[in-house]
Amino acid sequence: MYKILTLPGDGIGPEVVQVAAQVLKHVAKTFHLVFETEEALIGGASIDQYGKPLVDEVIQKAKQADAVLLGAVGGPKWENLSHHLKPEAGLLGIREALGLYANLRPAMVYDSLVDASSLKKEIVSGTNILVVRELTGGIYFGKPKGIQKNEDGTERGFNTEVYSTPEIERIAQKAFQLARKRKRQVCSVDKSNVLESSVLWRQVVTQVAKRFPDVQLSHMYVDNCAMQLIRQPKQFDVIVTSNLFGDILSDEAAMLTGSIGMLPSASMGERLALYEPVHGSAPDIAGQDKANPLATILSCAMMLKYSFDLLDVSISVENAVKKVLEDGFRTQDLSHDGSCQMVGCREMGRLVCERIN
Ligand code: NAD
Repeated sequence: MYKILTLPGDGIGPEVVQVAAQVLKHVAKTFHLVFETEEALIGGASIDQYGKPLVDEVIQKAKQADAVLLGAVGGPKWENLSHHLKPEAGLLGIREALGLYANLRPAMVYDSLVDASSLKKEIVSGTNILVVRELTGGIYFGKPKGIQKNEDGTERGFNTEVYSTPEIERIAQKAFQLARKRKRQVCSVDKSNVLESSVLWRQVVTQVAKRFPDVQLSHMYVDNCAMQLIRQPKQFDVIVTSNLFGDILSDEAAMLTGSIGMLPSASMGERLALYEPVHGSAPDIAGQDKANPLATILSCAMMLKYSFDLLDVSISVENAVKKVLEDGFRTQDLSHDGSCQMVGCREMGRLVCERIN
């Protein structure tokens, strides 16, 4: 039995999470599993109820669960609140409270959606990359940081890129473990020709690799990686990199697929992980049954694979998504031609269930 906490959030969040929960229910029935799901509030929905975007009780519930599924947070209603009271603070709060240090962003190009990419079909077709980004260290958190006044009246803004051995070790280890569930190739991305923190990064990753002799390790400078992702994305399997580089490269890799409604993600800690679609709460289409639920369904597939070790079950969900697209069903955000059939969020979920076996 697996305990899942769902945090639907705001906008299209509740719509896509509800559909994903239906898919999980169907998976449980098909594969004789038990998923005990509980729902709680986060983001704007929590602000409306409790006056803040994340309450301690929800953190406790998350800690007691085996995995957390989140929809999306935010919307115009809460935009003018102060920073720490905004819906997004709930998201940062739960990531911090659960110690989620590894962010996983797969970028997979589906044959039936290959035309949605801004790159040529022959370049992107078959791309299947997993970007593993360090999430709690590096320049976003390093100290000292700030903006200071100089004596001549000008100002100076500064941040610190800093990584310690344990921080690099644990993210590298995670990347090698994940590679074992894929093509067993890790490309570590750094800037060790310029940055000392990257020199240490490369040394530590190389050391960790010795414990994974079955996984092939390569190193690449970040500027080259940005080029190679566009030039020949198929060369990559797992990319592991720092917080700043991962932030940029994961968005670049995502754009190879050309479709925000298709992108799942996971944030992992030592024991717990939180799964969520990459997209936001899309207030422009909320409540209209127009949202694409596939990113959230694919986030559930990641949960089955990474949190519950149900690799075959996860693959059957991924295959059902592939099949539904091959069969010509599209939500309004996906590229389509005359032969495709437009469906809503709920119907898309039902069609996926139909194809899970
Ligand atoms: P967004 O991702 O919500 O929407 C961007 C565009 O993509 C919109 O046109 C939207 O309709 C479309 N879109 C997004 N997801 C879709 C889906 N599943 N199906 C179909 N179309 C989809 O980004 P935004 O408009 O910049 O932000 C809206 C709100 O979401 C803001 O309050 C922002 O802060 C928040 N946000 C939250 C998260 C999160 O919860 N992780 C991430 C990004 C943005």
